[in-house]
Amino acid sequence: MKCPFCGHTEDRVVDSRVGRDGEFIRRRRECLKCRRRYTTYEYIEDVLPHVVKRDGRREPFDRQKLRGSILKACEKRSVGVQAVDDVVGEIEARLHERAEREISSKELGELVMEHLQRLDQVAYVRFASVYRQFTDVTQFMTEVRGLLKDDKPKEDKVKPIAVKPRPLVKTK
Ligand SMILES: [Zn+2]
Repeated sequence: MKCPFCGHTEDRVVDSRVGRDGEFIRRRRECLKCRRRYTTYEYIEDVLPHVVKRDGRREPFDRQKLRGSILKACEKRSVGVQAVDDVVGEIEARLHERAEREISSKELGELVMEHLQRLDQVAYVRFASVYRQFTDVTQFMTEVRGLLKDDKPKEDKVKPIAVKPRPLVKTK
């Protein structure tokens, strides 16, 4: 810490106290040069990032929105609400660890997919189809095929989800 009186950068902490609700730590410090005392406060930085959307707009990370989209992907699947909340919690924890100010919606989507893939593969494909905005059916099928390949045969196979084949627009 830089002493507010003389600018010296070495000090010793003479007292540390946790703030009322534990939201900060207050430290009394003594400058090793001029011996004067001053106080610093340490706060946990609120690091949940802003989400940068495809069009460049930014919005605060919205836990409820994330939870809602995961719940929707898990609709009619045997995934409990607790499991969904765990995933949301894990994603939040990852965002805290990342400690970046921003995350692109794409990156956030990948993070969610990473978790959903382990949770429920149908939910994963549903979410992926929305988030990645598959541009054509081929891309979508590749994803599904990839899943079927590393999925051991069991009754819980991923059924192709109704995606209307759009006529491919030829670009020259
Ligand atoms: Zn000083």
